[in-house]
Amino acid sequence: MTMKESVALVTGGSRGIGRAICLELARQGASVAVNYAGNEQAALETVEACRALGVEAEAFQADVADPAACEELVKAVKDRFGHLDILVNNAGITRDGLLMTAKAEDFDKVLDTNLKGAYFCMKAASKVMMRQRYGRIISMSSVVGLRGNAGQTSYSASKAGILGLTKSAAKELATRGVTVNAVAPGFIDTDMTSVLPENAKNAMLTTIPMGKPGAPEDVARAVVFFARPESAYITGQVLCVDGGMAV
Ligand code: NAP
Repeated sequence: MTMKESVALVTGGSRGIGRAICLELARQGASVAVNYAGNEQAALETVEACRALGVEAEAFQADVADPAACEELVKAVKDRFGHLDILVNNAGITRDGLLMTAKAEDFDKVLDTNLKGAYFCMKAASKVMMRQRYGRIISMSSVVGLRGNAGQTSYSASKAGILGLTKSAAKELATRGVTVNAVAPGFIDTDMTSVLPENAKNAMLTTIPMGKPGAPEDVARAVVFFARPESAYITGQVLCVDGGMAV
């Protein structure tokens, strides 16, 4: 297997970190399936940008919080490209609020998308990958999944859950040539963080030894490191991309 022969599925590939991952995978020659939830225009822009790099790319709408939609998504990608070698569980949302006042339905929404979404996609993709005896699964955690963050109980619980999911799946799939790893970004410039109030952003920056936010491309390069065929003996790992935030 080479990167040029690889087919990658990136959930939430329409914008932000997911788009940067799609483009970095395309730069390495992989075919790219760009999943999105509702933003078709952004997904099609990612697809066009991948194609401009000389690879095959296609957009696939699916809500990762829906288990049947995840099964369908993996099947559609396999039908279109013939195989599935790289799964990047990137789709994610926030519904921030203090523990005492946060709504239970927001907790469910965040867990359904960020954690169960990764689980459903991993479950569907691992069947294909185990049969192939080859696969790379990379899921997006977060520094707040390692360290916690006031006002983000649901989000940090979902991102801590990704770590347990990653380590357990790594052990289950290890003998079949399927590696499972996680990337934990710190504070990255995307739509997700642009909505934060200026004082919250400034407070966050003071916790970063490098004193600046990361770019989506910084995260994408770490994801592609795990996605390479040569990273075959690395599994169950978590790589922080955070300017030193979690040190
Ligand atoms: P973003 O700019 O808000 O983009 C979110 C992406 O997820 C979009 O492509 C969106 O699709 C997709 N998405 C949301 N809900 C979905 C669903 N139910 N099904 C399928 N796709 C869905 O976020 P980002 O900042 O790039 O974050 C990407 C990942 O990195 C997330 O898992 C996030 O938790 C994690 N992360 C981000 C940071 C940061 O500082 N930005 C730090 C640590 C971890 P549509 O375009 O269709 O809405």
